Amino acid sequence: PSLSEADIGLIGLAVMGENLVLNMASHDFTVAVYNRTTSKVDNFIEGRASGKSIIGTHSLEELCSKLKRPRRVMIMVKAGGPVDAVIAGLLPFLEEGDIVIDGGNSEFPDSVRRTEDLAAKGILYIGTGVSGGEEGALKGPSIMPGGNPEAWPHVKPIFQAISAKTDKGEPCCDWVGRGGAGHFVKMVHNGIEYGDMQMICETYQMMKSGLGMSNDEMHEVFARWNNGVLDSYLVEITRDILGYREDDGSATVDVILDTAGQKGTGKWTAITALDVGQPLTLIGEAVFARCLSALKDERVAASKVLNGPEVSFDGDKAAFVNDLEQALYASKIVSYAQGYQLMRAVSDERDWELNYGGIAMMWRGGCIIRSAFLNNIRDAFEKDSGLTNLLLDPFFEKAVETAQASWRNVVATGVKLGIPLPAISSALCYYDGYRTERLPANLLQAQRDYFGAHTYERLDKERGEYFHTNWTGRG
Ligand code: NAP
Repeated sequence: PSLSEADIGLIGLAVMGENLVLNMASHDFTVAVYNRTTSKVDNFIEGRASGKSIIGTHSLEELCSKLKRPRRVMIMVKAGGPVDAVIAGLLPFLEEGDIVIDGGNSEFPDSVRRTEDLAAKGILYIGTGVSGGEEGALKGPSIMPGGNPEAWPHVKPIFQAISAKTDKGEPCCDWVGRGGAGHFVKMVHNGIEYGDMQMICETYQMMKSGLGMSNDEMHEVFARWNNGVLDSYLVEITRDILGYREDDGSATVDVILDTAGQKGTGKWTAITALDVGQPLTLIGEAVFARCLSALKDERVAASKVLNGPEVSFDGDKAAFVNDLEQALYASKIVSYAQGYQLMRAVSDERDWELNYGGIAMMWRGGCIIRSAFLNNIRDAFEKDSGLTNLLLDPFFEKAVETAQASWRNVVATGVKLGIPLPAISSALCYYDGYRTERLPANLLQAQRDYFGAHTYERLDKERGEYFHTNWTGRG
């Protein structure tokens, strides 16, 4: 009997690891498994894995001895130090050309480092985002692999088999790019998720507080939106949430405390944007909106002291709901334009060669931000892989143009009614800023030069020539 029979090894039998193994086995791959606490291996083999093409092992050495060459080993342990510990433990049992894959929620700089360190030892490393939670891992996650491109042909058949599929049957998994690209793109995905959720919440607040709509009415609106340009998982679950009732008939959403939690991936996306100097305003606002929501006690106190405008909505409600749909759509386009701008900046800086169209496809299924609209993004990058900004793609340019009057009406109405729309209004500010040939940064440069002699460039001279004015020296 062959001792090297397994297609892939998986380390870390917590919920994500177990489900990925079962997913692989259900696609006819043979999987060798290992977990630090080996009783979990036995429990798994005797329980959920019984009767399946899954082989239990009790050491990393034994695991590696069971694998076809080149060996493929996937790590699904707690992110951070544990990943390094497992890699160090594996190395004595690996040979040149073997492949190590980290599928946990690692921070992308760690994946950059691991890819380089292992390449120096002849080991091919992949850091991959896996999105979709427990259920996704079992039934089909969105998989975003990056790292050493030589590894990709060896894992592609397994990953594309187990990944989610689009409605056309395309796998939501493709090569993302070199280095830390996989975990980076997963992080941006999570940031975009923050933005999508915040924008939806702002339209809810406008309907609820501005238009005085009931949960049933809003449920109907989201149901309708889910059949149009906003067709997406998050709009769909919002529809369901607004329709959900307690035993006594009251809406569950109405009794949920309005303070948002966060695990930090949105924050990390915003921090990365600040680090590379990219205007990722909408996701930034979405993170800050969660922070503001968490100041519940302060807000309760302030609500008794600070007054807003004494006006109420007096327009056509049905027309305004249509405006909200357009405002949400346009803001969403801006958010993805910003997200892609960030991805391009980091990719260019690190020479990752990100697969922009492929990324949109990977997000089409299995993950939280899945939506019909991602097809349009994929089309845009297929037409022009060098596209600098999604807003410049003819489809999106026209979509925003069509939405523009509605979008402005929503923002203006929010301002008049005193209802905060940080994401939707910051998206409009970005749009107006991005399309402005001459911003007031000329004055800003003058100010910097005035107080700090920071110098400025001139429109009437060559770029790269710097001037200083003695601002107090005259008159
Ligand atoms: P987890 O709770 O994050 O980690 C538990 C696993 O890590 C156990 O197998 C544990 O082994 C192992 N482990 C911890 N420290 C270790 C060490 N120093 N050496 C060796 N093994 C160690 O498990 P999880 O929830 O299944 O998540 C796995 C990864 O997927 C994490 O990175 C997590 O962030 C990510 N994740 C992703 C999603 C998603 O939706 N994409 C959802 C959840 C989690 P023992 O049994 O011996 O303790």
